Amino acid sequence: MGPQGAGKGTQAEKLVEETGAAYIATGDLVREEIKKGSELGQKVKEYSDKGELVPDEIIVDMAKPLLEDNDSWILDGFPRNQSQAETLDEALNAIGEKLDRVILLEAPDDVLVERLSGRRQSEATGKIYHVEHDPPPENDEEDPGPFVQRHDDTEEAIRNRLATYHEQTEPLKDHYEEQGLLVTIDATKSIDEVTEEVMKVVREDS
Ligand code: AMP
Repeated sequence: MGPQGAGKGTQAEKLVEETGAAYIATGDLVREEIKKGSELGQKVKEYSDKGELVPDEIIVDMAKPLLEDNDSWILDGFPRNQSQAETLDEALNAIGEKLDRVILLEAPDDVLVERLSGRRQSEATGKIYHVEHDPPPENDEEDPGPFVQRHDDTEEAIRNRLATYHEQTEPLKDHYEEQGLLVTIDATKSIDEVTEEVMKVVREDS
């Protein structure tokens, strides 16, 4: 869990390497659907471009097959509100499973806005860069790019997404705190420092 720009995707990539769990990012599923140009893609694009949440039933339908097909996973960007958290709890209860851990990456909004507005993603490799802090390589062999800005990384959509996060997603902190699952990590630290803390949590659990 964490606001946009906190580094969830970056850290999840490292966790996937360490644990071999499947990576399920509902934002990626949404973008894949948009890229396909399907009818569903056109529908979800309207929400995503504005930085609004896609309706719950669409997201649950997208994520469910992946949850069912894999034994272990790292969820990124789901659940995003109380109703999605309850849907997930119910689905896990039904198969006698529970979440191992909820890791919350926290950072103040001004840091997040700065990170997101400089964010660029390689169309070739999917890797994420920052124009100042981690610029895309000039060497084509390392990553040929092109390096593009996400449609929802505009100033207005960023503000909207952060407001939605604070309103709908942040309250899930209490939900997972009550379940004794929440670990909070300061995401203003360097990528490597955050990774070290995330790995510590995961190793303690296993
Ligand atoms: P993300 O890459 O996680 O920031 O997601 C990009 C966009 O996809 C969001 O702004 C939403 O429009 C949509 N989206 C992703 N995950 C969810 C979710 N769990 N519930 C509703 N909408 C979502």
